[in-house]
Amino acid sequence: MEKRRIAILGSTGSIGRQALDVIRQHRDLFDVELLTANNSSGLLIEQALEFGANSVVICNESKYEEVAEALQPHYIKVFAGMKSVCELAGSDEIDIVLTAMVGFSGLESTVAAIKAGKIIALANKETLVAAGAIVTGLARQYGTAIIPVDSEHSAIFQCLQGSFGAKPVKIHLTASGGPFRTWDRDRISKATRLEALNHPRWNMGQKVTIDSSTMMNKGLEVIEAKWLFDVDPGQIEVVVHPQSVIHSMVEFEDGAVIAQLGHPDMREPIQYALSYPSRLSLDNRKLNFAELGELTFSAPDMRKFPALGLAYEAIRKSGNMPCIMNAANEVAVKAFLEDRIGFYDIPDIIEKTMAGVDFVKEPDLDTIFETNDEAFRKAGEITRRYI
Ligand code: MG
Repeated sequence: MEKRRIAILGSTGSIGRQALDVIRQHRDLFDVELLTANNSSGLLIEQALEFGANSVVICNESKYEEVAEALQPHYIKVFAGMKSVCELAGSDEIDIVLTAMVGFSGLESTVAAIKAGKIIALANKETLVAAGAIVTGLARQYGTAIIPVDSEHSAIFQCLQGSFGAKPVKIHLTASGGPFRTWDRDRISKATRLEALNHPRWNMGQKVTIDSSTMMNKGLEVIEAKWLFDVDPGQIEVVVHPQSVIHSMVEFEDGAVIAQLGHPDMREPIQYALSYPSRLSLDNRKLNFAELGELTFSAPDMRKFPALGLAYEAIRKSGNMPCIMNAANEVAVKAFLEDRIGFYDIPDIIEKTMAGVDFVKEPDLDTIFETNDEAFRKAGEITRRYI
């Protein structure tokens, strides 16, 4: 594999830190060109020094002085603000842009990187949820690839290697079921923030962990899969698999099912996205099938997890509806993380917001940004009624 020059947008978050751990194991194969962070100036400085980044961006402009003072003596270029992220993500010195920021805010810089022809290692699923048709259309137009980092989508992508263009008739998207899989609806309705943050299998950031507890994460992933693999929502079947050993499967028309397995560790899909199509060594735990004993599967309980049904509804309507749903979810999850609303208020707020914002069948990028603003406003207004 030839050396690759990497930009990590959101390097101080969970995915960003694990990506740097992958790079730490293969310093001869990856150069860190650009690191960006929202607020975590201290960790950003540490990372930039360890990996000898060429440039960094701190989005929170009030922290510029602190970062510049620490890094400029080491000849690391320091910038501030979201606009700088968009400009630098397209620079000539970068081969792959890992989009690891959280939420809709990742859309603008992802679009900028695609327009500059960069390979996108996509970890920011909200980008594809909110603007899947536009983002995948731009990737085609600018002749670049979007390689999934999300473990399920990386699994599907890996399962399709060697299929010689045969399209899957079905995608089996596995779900751990989250921390409330075995709870009844009544008990879930009283779930606290700390209980929701206690994910049984995956070590992830707060937003995605709450999304896992509501199963909205799986809903976002259904939409993400629709755009990445060009299938209808009806071809995507969610299956609860609490061991999280099978990361997803594809089924072909002859009934053959191909699965990708591994011990749950995000560094594997991150590394594959950065090294694709090469495979590199990784110091992760390997599977021991005799120890595993058995793997189990069941259908998701849509009554206990209404967010999953809302996501199917949003992608069936398509247009700007997934964007509305995503914005409402971001608002509701934030309120839940601040202990301001109850657990089932999250899907309630999403449902009401989806009914309360104007539907547009074929939105352009400007319409998506307007929809996001409007849905944020509307969801905020609805959320205040629950507090
Ligand atoms: Mg996932």
